[in-house]
Amino acid sequence: MISPLIEQWQRQRAQEKKAQKKQVARLKRQKGKKLDEQANDLHEEVFSEINCLDCANCCTSIPPMLNRTDINRIAKHLGMKVGQFESEYLRMDEDGDMVMKTTPCPFLLPDHACLIYEHRPRACREYPHTDQSTFSQHLRLHATNAQYCPAVFHILKRMENPVI
Ligand code: SF4
Ligand code: SF4
Repeated sequence: MISPLIEQWQRQRAQEKKAQKKQVARLKRQKGKKLDEQANDLHEEVFSEINCLDCANCCTSIPPMLNRTDINRIAKHLGMKVGQFESEYLRMDEDGDMVMKTTPCPFLLPDHACLIYEHRPRACREYPHTDQSTFSQHLRLHATNAQYCPAVFHILKRMENPVI
């Protein structure tokens, strides 16, 4: 059964878009350790209620960025030459970063597992940047990410209405 949190996100994300943008702008004034600790706790809480295998929306809709270490590691894992891997799977985006050429990601399997899970890019490991004291560093991304990731959406909602 799909998580009620994912269903709620599907129903409400469009109508909450403006409010969450304003919320993130307000959070800029609280940036720092305390905010990161709160976000980390909410990250644990929300991800205990959402199974990424029921979602995969990030892998379906956002092409991840790959750094040089990612590219070398994944090419080696696939038994491909780096140049061959790059031309088959990657493109340069408007900021000059290497990203997956296509969405959904070519390594996303039908059951939403990742074919290269142990070797996946750092960007995939760290998404959605809400744990381990990284929330404040990526503040400007969260309003946008809430439109793509149900977990970010609910972390922001619970920040707004903390259960005490
Ligand atoms: S590499 Fe794996 S985790 Fe990253 S976007 Fe592709 S399927 Fe998802
Ligand atoms: S969009 Fe968020 S909840 Fe969905 S699979 Fe990605 S990280 Fe998990």
